[in-house]
Parts: sequence; structure tokens; C-alpha cells
Amino acid sequence: MAVTQPHVLIVEDEPAQREVLAYNLAAEGFRTSQATNGEEGLLLVEEDTPDVIVLDWMLPQVSGIEVCRQLKTRADTRAIPIIMLSAKAEEIDKVRGLETGADDYVVKPYSVAELMARVRLQARRSRPSAMGQELTYEDITLNTETHRTHRAGAEITLGPTEFRLLAAFMEKPGRVWSRDLLLDRVWGRDIYVDTRSVDVHVGRLRKALSAGGGTDPIRTVRGAGYALG
Ligand code: CA
Repeated sequence: MAVTQPHVLIVEDEPAQREVLAYNLAAEGFRTSQATNGEEGLLLVEEDTPDVIVLDWMLPQVSGIEVCRQLKTRADTRAIPIIMLSAKAEEIDKVRGLETGADDYVVKPYSVAELMARVRLQARRSRPSAMGQELTYEDITLNTETHRTHRAGAEITLGPTEFRLLAAFMEKPGRVWSRDLLLDRVWGRDIYVDTRSVDVHVGRLRKALSAGGGTDPIRTVRGAGYALG
């Protein structure tokens, strides 16, 4: 299902550069969206939150540094890893000095293989479940490669939606997810689903997790949504 694919936003004004990035990221199994300037980049972050941002320094109007600075000062976007691209090593030194909060820096012309490795590294940090890793929360384990879930050693059978719901919860234990946020993450943006469906599937997930006698690990936060733990 496409929604579990890690999502990379490319912000780059040069079409050839954008194309190379998009092509190689797609080959690596990433879903990509593309912005040609800083403003569009900020807008796309709002519309479809990426797991990693590859951000060019030199952009028309709003510079890459400014985009980075804005995203890193906002509580809702601060955690998205940003890999900054620059044509000159001196610029990288400058951006480091400016403390824009970028997570990594790559000088152009870069080796595609190296950049992909860095994107993978940031994606694993940002979305471990989408990168085929096993997630653990207390006595619950979820493996996105084998699609199996266990609690206290016993296998739990989950429907595909419940599985993705649990994966989202387990990526960020304690985080309160609004119904809208869960709809985006679990169902995807392009699908129209009523927010009440979220309640139905959370209910099913709770039932499945507690079937073996364990306590319900999901917390209902009144007026806000749901959280694991
Ligand atoms: Ca540029």
C-alpha cells in the first residue's frame, strides 16, 4: 500500500537536478513530491508532510536556508529531517555556522549513491516502520517487512488498516494523533474517508491487542484524538 512508502520532498529549482533526484529516489522505493521554489516547498510540507526533505540552498525568492529555518522553528515540522544541497563547500560551512538546523549537508556535484544513502539514513530515523524495521512498544512488536505483529510472544492478527494504524502509533509512542492526521497517514490524502471510520478501526485494533488478555495500550485523548501509551 502506497501510504507506507517513505515520502521525500525535493525542493530544487533546476529541472535537470530535480529529475535526477526524483528518478533515483523512486528507484530506491521512495514516493516523491517536487517543489520548484521555497514557497511551494513550504506549501507542500503543509499539504502532504514528507518524511525527509532534500532542499537546495540556491532557490528563487525564499532561499533554502530560510525554508530550513522556518521549518525548524515550527513545532509541527521541526522533526522532519532536512538534507541541504549546495553548489559550494563554503556555503555548507556558512549554513552550518548559521545554525539553520539542517540535519545533513551535501555539496554539488554529489555522488547519487552517497546522497541516496544519506536519504535512507534520515528516512530510517524519521519513519522506521516504512523502512522495513521492527518496532517495539512494551510487549508489542510489529514488523513491516513480514507484516506480523506479536504481543507477549503471541501472534496478533490484524487487518491491513489496523496494521498501518498500529505502525503509526508505534513510530511515535505517546504522540497524540488527531483523527485527521491518522486519516492522512493511514488512509492517504487522496482517499475520502469519514473521521468516524478512524474510531471504528481504532476500536478494532484495541480489541485485537487486548484479545490475549493484555490491557488496552491505546489512550483516547478527549477532543484531541488517540495515543499509544
Ligand atoms: Ca538551485
